[in-house]
Amino acid sequence: MSSNSSAFTKVLKNLLVLTSGRAVQSAVRAAHAGGRSVVLVPTMGALHAGHQALIREGRKRSSEVWVSIFVNPTQFDDPADLNGYPRQFEADCKLAQEAGATGVFAPSLAEVYPDGFVGQFSTLEVNYGRLTSELEGQDRPGHFDGVVQVVRRLFELVEPDVALFGEKDFQQLAVIADLARRENLGVEVVSVPTVRGEEGLALSSRNVRLSQAARKAALLLSAKIKAVARAPQPLAAADIAFAELADHPLIAPAYFAVVESDTFAPYDPENPRPARVLVAAEVDGIRLIDNVALEGVD
Ligand code: AMP
Repeated sequence: MSSNSSAFTKVLKNLLVLTSGRAVQSAVRAAHAGGRSVVLVPTMGALHAGHQALIREGRKRSSEVWVSIFVNPTQFDDPADLNGYPRQFEADCKLAQEAGATGVFAPSLAEVYPDGFVGQFSTLEVNYGRLTSELEGQDRPGHFDGVVQVVRRLFELVEPDVALFGEKDFQQLAVIADLARRENLGVEVVSVPTVRGEEGLALSSRNVRLSQAARKAALLLSAKIKAVARAPQPLAAADIAFAELADHPLIAPAYFAVVESDTFAPYDPENPRPARVLVAAEVDGIRLIDNVALEGVD
């Protein structure tokens, strides 16, 4: 956190800004003692209206909503992506406050990883079957190891009753729900629909890095997943959409898939179950993901 953060805390009167796990724990325990449940919204900062939707949803559930801001190195498989990740702490505090957060918890690396970690990688290996091996798991080796490690640690430090995650990162949501279930963490994992810009682009912290031309190209991702979600033959439509994206000079797609929403097994049109259309692509070097529900199977 920047050295002027204490002065900044005074400006944002109704927002607590804490960096120590012990301090956040005592704030949370005071809330629990007062009979209030505690909501956690884990983020990597560079907040936007998508994060604010999570905070507002949190406020519907409790007056005690904590936003964690921590750019987690162990979930980045690409050092350039980590180094270029946008950081705007003071603006984030204002956005969190505007949406009704009680406080921002911005832990140090040492607080989250007291035992350190090797290089940039997680010291934990998770295997939740297809949930961690397919799609993002395959394209970003080690990504979910880092996600699970940091979320588990944030839950340990904050001790929330409820944690909110966006459908924007649909596979992450499935992994975290599975983590909470497998390890009986006593945290209710709640999902919030994806917030999009006017033209359909899913809001993402990485969007600020898109040039005008890249932004226009990125609109194709949401347009195509929506078209596939409505297609009479979604599997064939997904293959065509992948090829069309690959033909675009600014787009390098990683996958375009239709999978069962709960298991991440390939969607089977002979045995239709609720499913999700998911895409990942580098657009002018910026990695973006998006997804929507397959229509007609819910
Ligand atoms: P991040 O800061 O990107 O790690 O995201 C923090 C949380 O906000 C995650 O649960 C994301 O799924 C969620 N989130 C990010 N973008 C959006 C969006 N456009 N709409 C809804 N939730 C989002």
